[in-house]
Amino acid sequence: MLASILPDGKLIIASHNKGKAAEIADLLAPYNIKVMTAADFNLPPPAETSDSYLGNARLKARATLAATGIPALADDSGFEVMAWGGKPGIHSARLAEEEGDYAKAMARIAAEVSQAHNASRQNRQCRMVAALLLACADGREFAAEGYANGTFVWPPRGDHGFGYDPVFQPDGHNKTFAEMDAPTKQSLSHRHQAMHQLLAAIRHAQ
Ligand code: IMP
Repeated sequence: MLASILPDGKLIIASHNKGKAAEIADLLAPYNIKVMTAADFNLPPPAETSDSYLGNARLKARATLAATGIPALADDSGFEVMAWGGKPGIHSARLAEEEGDYAKAMARIAAEVSQAHNASRQNRQCRMVAALLLACADGREFAAEGYANGTFVWPPRGDHGFGYDPVFQPDGHNKTFAEMDAPTKQSLSHRHQAMHQLLAAIRHAQ
């Protein structure tokens, strides 16, 4: 079904984030397509100038399609902490750059949470968001968003995964994403849910 809208059965993952690209490749594994990444083509990452996840996913997918002529799937994602007004959100990668690394970015979030008016369990609520956008060579685009709700935990726990995984404990579980093996995280993740919706949108269009 996915292969049928991809000329030559090829797709580029328009991401330079190795953690994301690996998870997306894994989600695409059942579909019998040749998956490459923007890094394989030495493409520079485009500036993420939109104020929405979908807008940034569109920018990345279109830039990769324009540079290669090959259908491109982009992910724009983020970590939203309610006690910090939903930040860092679409600026999650930027926070890590500004702070120096993810350990420091997670510590910054912990400081913001503990200074929040009411650092109760309730406002430790947080979520991971992923927007996926597939830009096809014939101009069609398919998009979807997925969410994973959970609790911000401190200190960080676990060393699997990437990014903010060590401080994100999904609802209904007592391990963080970084304490889970890859298939368990994948089954609960915002990215998996977005992929499910994206494939449904493609199926409906056929
Ligand atoms: P983007 O490349 O601008 O979409 O940045 C995504 C940001 O959200 C990066 O800081 C990622 O580390 C973070 N992020 C996205 N998905 C996940 C995830 O599954 N686990 C942990 N952090 C994530």
